[in-house]
Amino acid sequence: MDLKKCVRVIENFPKEGISFKDITTLLQDGEALKYTVDKIAEDLKDQNIDIVVGPEARGFLIGTPVAYALGVGFVPVRKPGKLPGEVERFEYDLEYGSNVLEIHKDAIKPGQRVAIVDDLLATGGTTEAAIKLIEKLGGKVVSTQFLIELEDLNGREKLDNCQVNALIKY
Ligand code: 5GP
Repeated sequence: MDLKKCVRVIENFPKEGISFKDITTLLQDGEALKYTVDKIAEDLKDQNIDIVVGPEARGFLIGTPVAYALGVGFVPVRKPGKLPGEVERFEYDLEYGSNVLEIHKDAIKPGQRVAIVDDLLATGGTTEAAIKLIEKLGGKVVSTQFLIELEDLNGREKLDNCQVNALIKY
């Protein structure tokens, strides 16, 4: 299936010079959504994943159905002030701007094997921050799975200790 055709590219969003990959057009296509979730779950199914982690907000949209398909739980990584329990926090740089991410301290148990699922790998800053948070809690990130990778930004170089997979590349 040609998933790239399902992604809409919008120039100069959210600011001048950014060529934004809009995944809402893929999400609204039932066949493309099912293909995406099944493909990622298929790749993870023999890796003894205990938990899937997804960064806010588009990581929730793909990470949760992948977790469901694997029969494991889902843990959100969120922007500051959104999670009600005790959190770990980490600050990182983004393709545009900077950000802080948080995770519930009790969301991951030491030794758990974790897969991170997000819509897009750009600089890798978001995923690196999620890895730091997961490792602080004693989890081991074995795989990172993306719908889209922007290859020119070399995000995968930041993620050298785990599998990095993307279904669509620009
Ligand atoms: P990174 O931290 O790898 O530089 O950026 C990846 C994060 O930014 C992802 O969580 C992703 O949702 C968001 N992001 C950056 N650029 C785009 C884009 O063009 N399209 C979409 N859908 N998300 C983007």
